[in-house]
Amino acid sequence: MEACEAWCAKNGHILSDDTFLDEGKSGYTGDHIGPKGQLRRFLDLVEAGLIPQGSYLVVESLDRLSRENVNLALERFLSILNAGVNIVTLMDNEKVYHAHGTAADLIMSVLVMARANEESETKSKRAKDNWNTAFERARTEKKPVGKQVALWLELVEVVVNGIKRKEYRERPDRVEVVQRIFRDCIAGHGFVTVAKRLNGVGGELTPAFRGGTWCATSVQEILENRCVLGEWKWKDKDKEKGGVIEGYFPQVVTMETWELAQQAMVKRKKRGYTKQTNNFQLWQQIGYCAVCGGSMTQVTKGEKLLKYMACSDKRKGLCDDALNIRSERCEQVYKELLVKVGALGLIQTEAAEITKAMTLVDASIHTQQTIRAQHMKKLSENADLEFLYELVATADQNLKRLKAEREELDVKHAAQTAAQSDKAWLLANIPLTERDDRQRANALLGRLGIVVRIRGGATPLFTVYQRERLILELRLVDEVVESVSYNADTTIRMYQQGELEEHQLEINVGFGSKKLPKPLRAGNGQDVS
Ligand SMILES: [Zn+2]
Repeated sequence: MEACEAWCAKNGHILSDDTFLDEGKSGYTGDHIGPKGQLRRFLDLVEAGLIPQGSYLVVESLDRLSRENVNLALERFLSILNAGVNIVTLMDNEKVYHAHGTAADLIMSVLVMARANEESETKSKRAKDNWNTAFERARTEKKPVGKQVALWLELVEVVVNGIKRKEYRERPDRVEVVQRIFRDCIAGHGFVTVAKRLNGVGGELTPAFRGGTWCATSVQEILENRCVLGEWKWKDKDKEKGGVIEGYFPQVVTMETWELAQQAMVKRKKRGYTKQTNNFQLWQQIGYCAVCGGSMTQVTKGEKLLKYMACSDKRKGLCDDALNIRSERCEQVYKELLVKVGALGLIQTEAAEITKAMTLVDASIHTQQTIRAQHMKKLSENADLEFLYELVATADQNLKRLKAEREELDVKHAAQTAAQSDKAWLLANIPLTERDDRQRANALLGRLGIVVRIRGGATPLFTVYQRERLILELRLVDEVVESVSYNADTTIRMYQQGELEEHQLEINVGFGSKKLPKPLRAGNGQDVS
């Protein structure tokens, strides 16, 4: 603009009150010619004959008219000149193209326009090439692209063999926080609770990574960010491209932890956990009224303030036939149930690791299969994207490794089951006193897909379903739990724990086809995993 004013002053012309500035609009893609473009407006005025003959159009360079396509640009250039308007280009030594110019001028202009067009194409191509090279190097050498960095990492400059390069490094204090968030999530805490705990409720205050305090969203962002696995997702406007680079960032959370957290989040969403009380209710989302299918809650009754499990609908007058059961009697059955479905995980971390790992390897196998299918689909659409072959090969390798891992776990699990033989010891050692223990026990049953129909009264009956199949009946006669198994795994466990004799083994095996009855009313939140 200043240059334009200077040219006018120097050559004795008066600058028009109306100027046509297209700042930021690309001459290459022709944006400035679009409906809102200033050049378009100028051309319209020229066409309408509203620009007086002998006027000068001052432009920075012919680029502004011409970068998209030389033919079009030439037509535009000539239409301006033919309307009697001269064109001045400031960058080419204030070259003036006159309305009635020479052939040499015309040839000159065509050359300038052609060059401008070529340069733009080159620039645009170079930018793309740079990106592709950067992506390739990111993929093969894990070379950092740009300055973007996950909040628990930092980009540091290191010198390797005398060569400076940038590298992602963990920030140990923050990595610890990330891992803690995952642990809390797996333990069954929701985003809000996790945030509260980080904000110092019931513990130490941890400042949020972006400063200030934690909120549900910042916790969720971390739990859903695959960067914790070391993955970087490259997004490209061009949907053909883009992709995931594994091992790009330092991995701060294991695949196992990741999958368990994802499952915990899905489960939470499905089950719609209610607000947690201080004394976590063991039967939450597990125990339901046998009469109406309503949820069971704990109530306190009488002068002695005894605690009972009661149908929640009974209190609303919707379920007359349900009978209450003393809470501690229920707890006795709960332990028995844990022992029968495999509660070793609550006591021995080793056993817990095995069951966890199994769920998770299965999930990882599924993930890899999905990824592989996606790559194959992309390949079928565009066989030229060579890096996809490599990604498919990687997925194949991963699958092979995972399947081997799964087999290994099966063997370990069998050995573990054999170790669950001391029932008295198990019953005595299942921790159910602390809030966290109770929550962990409840989460374990949830993970196993256990739902229990509870019928109260003098000899309460607990009908246990696993993934909607009847597996077990537990009856409380006096203070003794009597059990009938309808499931092979449970039966074998009972045999190993000395509860069944060998000749009793066949009795109920194979009867596990009885399905969980549909609830009488909606929303009892059965686990469907
Ligand atoms: Zn009921």
